[in-house]
Amino acid sequence: MHLYITVVIFFLGLAVASFLNALLYRIDNGYKYPEIFLKGSHCEKCNKQLHWYELIPILSFFIFKAKCTQCGYKVPLYYPITEFFLGLSIASIYYFSLPITFYILILFFFSMSYFDRIYKGIPKDIVHIFLLYSFVSFVIYTVVYKEIQENSIIFATIFASFVFLLSKTLKKKFGLGDLLVMFSLGFLLSLPFYLSFLYVFLFIALIYSLILIALKKATIRTSIPLLPLMFISFSLVLIFKEQLFLILEKILFI
Ligand SMILES: [Zn+2]
Repeated sequence: MHLYITVVIFFLGLAVASFLNALLYRIDNGYKYPEIFLKGSHCEKCNKQLHWYELIPILSFFIFKAKCTQCGYKVPLYYPITEFFLGLSIASIYYFSLPITFYILILFFFSMSYFDRIYKGIPKDIVHIFLLYSFVSFVIYTVVYKEIQENSIIFATIFASFVFLLSKTLKKKFGLGDLLVMFSLGFLLSLPFYLSFLYVFLFIALIYSLILIALKKATIRTSIPLLPLMFISFSLVLIFKEQLFLILEKILFI
């Protein structure tokens, strides 16, 4: 039964992700209420109204070969990938009975990724709200519920300060938004979780950069949007957290 509900939640996650991507697009393009919710889904380029069968998350992308059936506009691969990972994340949070704060956290990751991919930066307002949200959740869990978590604030502070100083020294711009997100996560994650996340994230960022460089799509100086990579890394840690904790234990204590 538990597994059955998890599968249902996965598909629900896909639908939520598809809706959110459309909503973020509309917010970004200055749609006004009620149009923002009521206007039917359409192609970003030629405005063709989309049929229901062109709107099935992930599946439509592959059936229509990632193209608009009217104008041939290429739908970015970003959409099915993030939708898939949001579905997976929400299903894992449910499956492993993780705290409710994780659902909101993953939605923040999802939204920040959208803007980071387009603008190579996250809007300040979202970063500030995320910082506030992380801090308030931490206070509620520690003060109100008296559940003093084995938190990673100290580690997150040292890590963010270190990267900040490093980027100053090397004069390589590391996004301040990215750093604030890494810092805020210290309020929400346990230390093993934080370390596993960092480990997976750095690994994925390295592989992704190497692939881009090999394909000559980037050089060592190109800045790449990190939030989508953080989002994917976080989803992977949600799923493989037990295995990752074991690996981490071996690395740290042997
Ligand atoms: Zn079109």
